[in-house]
Amino acid sequence: MSIRQKVLFKIKSVEFDKVNAPKKVSTYFGENTFSMTAMRKHISKTTFDAFKLWMSEGKTISLSQANEIANAMKNWAISKGATYYTHWFQPMTGLTAEKHDSFISFTGPGKVIEKFSGNKLIQGEPDASSFPSGGIRATFEARGYTAWDPSSPAFIIESALGKTLCIPTIFVSYNGEALDKKLPLIRSEEALNKAALNLVKLFGHKNVKKVFSTCGPEQEYFLIDRNYYNLRQDLIMTGRTLVGAPSPKGQQLEDQYFGTIKERVVNFMFEVAQEAYKLGIPVMTRHNEVAPHQYEFAPIFEESNLAADHNQLLMDLMKKVALRHNLVCLLHEKPFAGINGSGKHLNWSLADDQGNNLLNPGQTPEDNLQFLTVLAAVLRAVYLHADLLRASVALAGNEHRLGANEAPPAIISVFLGEQLNNILDMIEKGIKSKVSKADIIDLGIARLPKFNKDSTDRNRTSPFAFTGSKFEFRAVGSSQNISTPLAIINTIVAESLDYVAQQINKNVASGKDFNSTVLKVISQVVKETKNVRFEGNNYSAEWLKAAQKRGLANVAATFKALEALTKSKNIQLFEKYKVFSGEELAARYQIWVHLYNLTLDIEANTLNEMVNASVVPAGYKYEKLLANTLYRLIKLKKDGGLKIDKAALQDKKNHLSDVISKIYYVRRNALEMMKLLKQAEKLSDEKRAEVYFKQLKPLMEHIRRHVDALECVVSDDAWDLPKYREMLFIK
Ligand code: ADP
Ligand code: MG
Repeated sequence: MSIRQKVLFKIKSVEFDKVNAPKKVSTYFGENTFSMTAMRKHISKTTFDAFKLWMSEGKTISLSQANEIANAMKNWAISKGATYYTHWFQPMTGLTAEKHDSFISFTGPGKVIEKFSGNKLIQGEPDASSFPSGGIRATFEARGYTAWDPSSPAFIIESALGKTLCIPTIFVSYNGEALDKKLPLIRSEEALNKAALNLVKLFGHKNVKKVFSTCGPEQEYFLIDRNYYNLRQDLIMTGRTLVGAPSPKGQQLEDQYFGTIKERVVNFMFEVAQEAYKLGIPVMTRHNEVAPHQYEFAPIFEESNLAADHNQLLMDLMKKVALRHNLVCLLHEKPFAGINGSGKHLNWSLADDQGNNLLNPGQTPEDNLQFLTVLAAVLRAVYLHADLLRASVALAGNEHRLGANEAPPAIISVFLGEQLNNILDMIEKGIKSKVSKADIIDLGIARLPKFNKDSTDRNRTSPFAFTGSKFEFRAVGSSQNISTPLAIINTIVAESLDYVAQQINKNVASGKDFNSTVLKVISQVVKETKNVRFEGNNYSAEWLKAAQKRGLANVAATFKALEALTKSKNIQLFEKYKVFSGEELAARYQIWVHLYNLTLDIEANTLNEMVNASVVPAGYKYEKLLANTLYRLIKLKKDGGLKIDKAALQDKKNHLSDVISKIYYVRRNALEMMKLLKQAEKLSDEKRAEVYFKQLKPLMEHIRRHVDALECVVSDDAWDLPKYREMLFIK
């Protein structure tokens, strides 16, 4: 029996004690966060008011107030049993990072007290040399600073033996350049706020003080039993299977989505939700996905900065909790070839401090006009900056998904739904110089229905779809930190909001009627951006052709997509809105191209090892079995007079030859792959990424095909790598 077969007997759920009366969520939601409510209880009213102004209007607080908050935060954390604190931040590599410090200060020999000052709260100085900075900060000059982000509440992470207070922070260089993913997002919110405020004021909403983006990221993932995982060096090293023959049953029966969720998985989901609630993460729906053993968590939307932190935390929780259930949570975009990949649908909208969603049609024709104006601005943003959206989701893992005939394609287009399309078409055609209420009614604007998702959310193939009161950017990868895609959406929309406001102002200033001016501007934008709208099937071959005719880019390669960050029009845009400096963009380009190369290096080396240490030996074992059998049969025929059908003998020979040649091809291509890797060492990162995309990846695919063919002939008990049909179906 192979080790793999032995493992099959170990696949079982972890037994848990039955919880008879689960605690009501409302009794513990957010108990591990230093929320506004917790803060209010622990600090003076003056400091609390100052803090609120800091949050809402960017007023600064004094050092003594910071000290008061720090002290309150410390007392709160210690009362909950925390002994350490850490500045929690999001370096450019997409993971989260922590540097732990103890609360204790030495006050004399053998004496300690618990202490934590405002200075320490507001700023920390972790050794930054081990985080990539893309040349912003020379490695020898290891200074990077973390600075408290008060808009995201501090929280406590529990482990079996202790608790740690985590303080969300940004991570900057000595000169203030962003070394992380969070600061650009915060900056983009400022840009968006300014532009959107300006626009809503034009529409008469003078009382609005703040506009911000909201985000609800739907998180897809796979679960597999940990025993399988431990036997697959590819999953351990790279997060995806580099080899593995397709299982005869995949997702073709479409029986998974609405199927019941297995108890083992439900238990996992319960525990994740519980842990998430303690941290104030509002996870709501949970369900099966299309692929076998694929699932999704969808939280209720929040302010984007918070949603981004919560999504990072949720991913950590999912991985951690899975292990407690003897499962492994796979967040890679494409863990299994031929099976649907995992994405993260970013539901994105704009909200104001009065509780209005700017992508919801309003009660009055005027508000509906504002809704259509914002919608037009988003259309324009996507049309003009599709390259940046594509760049924001460019990473090695996602390259397997985008355009792979199942996920959104690498072509960025917008889906609006029939109703909105009709209205936009009408506006485009019928604008008068003066627009009365009756005209607005004629255009269908007066009675815009509140869209419900049933009437709009029918096109699941679109990368950027209006799904009733929000847009859904579906091209984001499941493992990604969502801060950068959000920062990019915010910036390009801010720019378009400014543009439409300018156009409106220009005409109104010259004495034109407001409503007809607005309609004209919408109509003009609708005309100009027509090419980006697509209602059909984005996975179809016809769309590939049609999109090309329309001049829409279809960038499959990560290195190519990332080039958008180096274009001067884009550098200007980000500098104008103070989201990224040219230098910060250049750094990100460098780091992300480099990361792509590192990912492929690891994958290729892992594949090479698997091929030589697992696959080929299994092949040899089987080859030996065949050769021995053949040899004996021939001997028996010759010496023992055994009668063997000529064709049957030939078949045995063919079988052996076939196995020999399969092994040969695997080995030959693996050698070639290693040669290519060696050659690529001499290249620049950009060139290397290109070679990896154009040559290394096809070669790896080639090896895989031969390995998978071998898997299907080698005897089951010689094959040690868990098979797709097991990992995905025996749970
Ligand atoms: P779907 O059909 O895509 O599953 P849902 O209604 O379940 O749609 O919502 C999906 C996600 O969209 C949820 O996370 C939800 O919180 C989020 N969402 C809803 N409204 C908004 C909004 N105004 N801004 C941002 N996200 C939103
Ligand atoms: Mg969705």
